[in-house]
Amino acid sequence: MKIPQFINQLVLYKPGKPIEETQREYGLKNVYKLASNENPLGPSPKVLKAASEALSSQHIYPDPSQYELVRRAVSFFGLSADCISFGNGTDEIIDFLARIFCEPGDCVLFPKYSFQAYEVTATAQRLNILTSELNGWNFDLDQLIRVFEHAVKKPKIVFLANPNNPTGTIITQSDLFRAIEFFADKECLVVIDEAYIEFVRSKDYQSAVCLLSKYDHLVVLRTFSKIFGMAGFRLGALLSTPHIVTAYNKIRKPFNVSGIAQVGGIAAMDDKEFVKKTQELTWSGLDYFYKEFKNLSIHFVESEGNFVLFDTGRSANAVFEDLLKQGIILRPVGNYGLPNHLRMSVGLEHENKAAIEAIAKTLKLQRGG
Ligand SMILES: *Cc1c(COP(=O)(O)O)cnc(C)c1O
Repeated sequence: MKIPQFINQLVLYKPGKPIEETQREYGLKNVYKLASNENPLGPSPKVLKAASEALSSQHIYPDPSQYELVRRAVSFFGLSADCISFGNGTDEIIDFLARIFCEPGDCVLFPKYSFQAYEVTATAQRLNILTSELNGWNFDLDQLIRVFEHAVKKPKIVFLANPNNPTGTIITQSDLFRAIEFFADKECLVVIDEAYIEFVRSKDYQSAVCLLSKYDHLVVLRTFSKIFGMAGFRLGALLSTPHIVTAYNKIRKPFNVSGIAQVGGIAAMDDKEFVKKTQELTWSGLDYFYKEFKNLSIHFVESEGNFVLFDTGRSANAVFEDLLKQGIILRPVGNYGLPNHLRMSVGLEHENKAAIEAIAKTLKLQRGG
């Protein structure tokens, strides 16, 4: 069978290099993976307890209505139940949104250096992609609007990650409101992906959830993969208006969210203490990185996520390989169009320290000094 060209041209997802593989390849005992923006504390103890207790009932199909999970989410998000649904990670929801609102040949729009899932979804569904320029590393609404207005065939979806991955930058509150208002009469869905919202420290940030009651072209995404430490459970939330949530519930598979993920998600929303602990760990880790980067004269982008993008000053692949040999796995972002940068997640204190030491050693060596 011949694979269609639009599928053939897709590039296989390159995951963060697994720890075990790196240990084997380089004969290392200690390997630290700061590549995938995961929570270094693991899932919260409450999540582990709830998930373990649910194991013995896993011969039963999960609840297709996600009833208890949605019920818990009502107070967590401050929305009514018909405005909430869940997916097998937000990446599944992104895929379904494109299926709901786009036909092959349609177009989607997002800023440069956006989360890769938008591009992958669009390509796989034979959609055309438009991107808009940034202002430095920052979101530039005027550029986004200009691209939209110049487009011959108008985009059907605009994807905005806020904060963005891999840059860690946010959309300011006024730009967010203005963007959503601009697209209100354009028959173009606005998807605000708030995967990193709990890590934001900027005062100029605002969640788009409060706008859901006002607009019917808006979707907000939240994930349980980052602050809640549940990346392996696969759980993401779709927050929108009832008619979009209903469309999504029709198209998703009934058992897309496992029973373990459903009870784990409920426990996660109950564990405020764990969120606080993760925030503190992340913020002190970021501040440590910034201080060390300044000492090492490394350019970096200040981040509102749980990761930081920094400039290696040369092809990042060589730096990446050299760090691997020292047991540090970071994330090359060449596939995002950033060949001279690496993205580093915040880890535990000793992991952060080991990473900085390895980076200092590598860059010094390569600078020949
Ligand atoms: C990590 C991340 C997600 C989460 O994806 P899941 O499929 O829920 O694990 C979503 N959006 C962005 C921008 C991310 O970086």
